[in-house]
Amino acid sequence: MKCPVCGREMEQGFLQGNQRIAWVKKRHKVFLLPGEGEVLLENNAFGSFLVPAWICKECQKVILDYAGQSG
Ligand SMILES: [Zn+2]
Repeated sequence: MKCPVCGREMEQGFLQGNQRIAWVKKRHKVFLLPGEGEVLLENNAFGSFLVPAWICKECQKVILDYAGQSG
């Protein structure tokens, strides 16, 4: 995957954590419940998550692949 900012080849890896992660339009106050047009990336509040991601350490950008998620 090419970095959309600098065009260099990005490094493949994962975004990992142990609570929900979502791409949202605006900050959610209490529960991370995606609204219209928003995408829940992982819904495993009691375990860890692992989402395929590419990183450009030059631009400090991360691209996620949410294929396979219900979102
Ligand atoms: Zn870049």
